[in-house]
Amino acid sequence: MADTKREFKVNRYENDKCELFIRPELCKGCEVCVAFCPTQALTLDTKNKICAAEYMEKCIACSMCEVRCPDFAIYIVKKEKSPGETKK
Ligand code: SF4
Ligand code: SF4
Repeated sequence: MADTKREFKVNRYENDKCELFIRPELCKGCEVCVAFCPTQALTLDTKNKICAAEYMEKCIACSMCEVRCPDFAIYIVKKEKSPGETKK
């Protein structure tokens, strides 16, 4: 039986707060995520796809880009804090 599951290329970025994943084939370059990102961590690359390569260190793992993207092209996975690392 043919496998109909489609595999998307995923670009992965990381800082100390989270991993951020972008599926460029799904990104239409609408910049909704750019507008809602509170720290200007996202930019468009030369192919008009969203990218976090340049400013990933600014990402605070708020998930706003994931929530607002209409095409499910971007998602984040927050990193767990270690037990000794509690709120200040
Ligand atoms: S909101 Fe989604 S589709 Fe639009 S630019 Fe951002 S990642 Fe791409
Ligand atoms: S998780 Fe928040 S800070 Fe990070 S890129 Fe998305 S909107 Fe910007």
